[in-house]
Amino acid sequence: MPYHHILVAVDLTEECDPVIHRARELSASQDAKLSLVHIVEPMAMAFGGDVPMDLSQLQQQQFDQAKERLERLITKYPELTKDNCHLTYGQPKQEIHGLAKEKGCDLVVVGSHARHGLALLLGSTSNDVLHGAPCDVLAVRLKKAE
Ligand code: AMP
Repeated sequence: MPYHHILVAVDLTEECDPVIHRARELSASQDAKLSLVHIVEPMAMAFGGDVPMDLSQLQQQQFDQAKERLERLITKYPELTKDNCHLTYGQPKQEIHGLAKEKGCDLVVVGSHARHGLALLLGSTSNDVLHGAPCDVLAVRLKKAE
């Protein structure tokens, strides 16, 4: 059965290209719609001593940087537009599942690293996304080990 709507989740690093390529290939071969999402995660709280830090400005900078990177992807890939690219704030798993449900996606595409040592213990976004996913999930193997 062909897929109808593919959601590709990207971390906006240089490693997201192979993940987008795979999602584009699939969407072209299955004549499926393509959407993309990036989630800006809440900043880790790092307080030194008693000095309270206002992270809202840093968080805004992070959001603006993500927006710029996303705009570069929109320029690079003809299938990507402002309408089918989503930038949200929150936890990747929840946001990806929520968007997949909301948009009626039947496949989520994510990247997956070979993990060793501490990285293995910490887990991965691809693993998180797989658990409780509302549809199929394709993990594209990324060459560079962490
Ligand atoms: P990681 O487990 O963090 O190495 O990421 C593996 C894959 O999860 C990435 O290649 C993306 O497909 C997806 N991913 C990670 N972080 C995000 C994010 N903030 N927003 C959307 N997708 C993400």
